[in-house]
Amino acid sequence: MSGMTIDQLRERARGAVIEPGDDLYDEARTVYNAMIDRRPRVVVRCSDAGDVMAAVDFARENGLDLAVRGGGHSVPGFGTVEGGVVADLSGMRGVRVDPAARTARAEGGATWGDFNHATGAFGLATTGGIISTTGVGGLTLGGGIGYLTRGHGLSCDNLISADVVAADGRLLHASAEENPDLFWALRGGGGNFGVVTSFEFRLHPVAGIYGGVRFFELAETANVLRFYREFIADAPPELGAFPAFQIAPPLPFIPEARHGDTFIAMVACWSGALEKAEGALAPIAEIAPTVAAFVDAMPYAALNGLFDGLVPPGLQHYWKANFVTELSDAAIAAHVEHGPKVPAVNSTVHIYPINGAVHEVAPNATAFAYREANFATVIAGMWPDPADNEANTAWVRSYYDATAPESEEGGYINFMSGDDQSRIKANYRGNYERLVDVKRAYDPDNLFHVNQNIQP
Ligand SMILES: Cc1cc2nc3c(=O)[nH]c(=O)nc-3n(C[C@H](O)[C@H](O)[C@H](O)COP(=O)(O)OP(=O)(O)OC[C@H]3O[C@@H](n4cnc5c(N)ncnc54)[C@H](O)[C@@H]3O)c2cc1C
Repeated sequence: MSGMTIDQLRERARGAVIEPGDDLYDEARTVYNAMIDRRPRVVVRCSDAGDVMAAVDFARENGLDLAVRGGGHSVPGFGTVEGGVVADLSGMRGVRVDPAARTARAEGGATWGDFNHATGAFGLATTGGIISTTGVGGLTLGGGIGYLTRGHGLSCDNLISADVVAADGRLLHASAEENPDLFWALRGGGGNFGVVTSFEFRLHPVAGIYGGVRFFELAETANVLRFYREFIADAPPELGAFPAFQIAPPLPFIPEARHGDTFIAMVACWSGALEKAEGALAPIAEIAPTVAAFVDAMPYAALNGLFDGLVPPGLQHYWKANFVTELSDAAIAAHVEHGPKVPAVNSTVHIYPINGAVHEVAPNATAFAYREANFATVIAGMWPDPADNEANTAWVRSYYDATAPESEEGGYINFMSGDDQSRIKANYRGNYERLVDVKRAYDPDNLFHVNQNIQP
């Protein structure tokens, strides 16, 4: 090694420094997607920004690949790397809420479960993902789509500032006032610009919500999707809702005889005044006869964890994604053909709305470029058995091929697979050149390249 030695790294780092042969090595190299099987040279379990700086210096000085892990949910497995260094932030999960200022600061490895629990105690929330185990880090840096998007924008739209360990090992502060170009790039540009050790978010009053999931017969798919495209265009901003293809899990609210059948579902979250909730969701209940429904008042954090059981760690994952401006009849026909073939109870297809508050931000105001699109579609292939990899990957690909002609060229970077790197320019459209400029300023040697990479 030409730079810092492992012993020197151990001296600098407070957290565990784990190498091949160590007892914790197999656990430390494992990420959420079990299709990913990589053997890093070293995993640094960072305990603070100082540890992150040490890991970054160690990788840079030794010319090693560097992976940064927040929640570890990246489908392409960007939270680990063959033969390189993993800066694992999963031990940095603290969340500090300032209820008076309505802000919260989350460490770089916090999950949305950590975040929502901490803010929920004060009846506050910000836009996060729909599964509680996903990392605040990766999700926010890529944009961040969830139940509160229509009312409060993307997660990155709620970012006030970030502490960032840059490629040269310095800790920088990024906000509208300090390093504003870096702050612009962090809001959608993914992990390309440094390791965020702390995210500061704006919060909103979101105490109890009313929502859940309603299942309709597959024969109603075209009806449901045609209803959805009209309804969501001007539904109140307090309503988050999306259709989902879903195999019925064995849950008590679903008739036992229908367990294992495939349905078109509508998932909804009303975050406005509770007395208006039933009225707001009534049109969804009226689309078609309901087969089963679990819709009720609950804390926002409870809805955020409602589907966690369907997506435990250790599944095989292969996903594809596109932005969609018009949910055309041809697109609906493609969904009607491919959605019902969803191969496992863990797999799903969601068509998220990205209108409302997302449209109120200019496409060049943050790195997230597809502000005029109305939907972000994800074909999320997830299943337990590696023996099914070929067949289920083929399902995702053929579904994607069928919907691509009715979609935008670009997709949401957080929903993409490792083989989507060639789409990076399309994902950022008019913002791509500026992202390259910021990359050249903060990471000219592309130390942070284990991601949907913007090359300097
Ligand atoms: C089950 C599941 C549900 C999901 N639901 C949603 C959803 O509702 N909405 C949505 O928008 N997306 C969702 N996603 C996609 C999710 O946004 C991405 O997988 C995201 O990359 C996960 O972030 P992470 O921190 O968990 O992952 P990681 O694998 O840890 O990181 C992903 C990327 O972000 C970088 N990164 C992570 N943390 C940091 C940090 N602190 N500083 C710098 N770089 C960092 C990593 O280097 C890597 O490139 C979901 C994914 C899964 C698997």
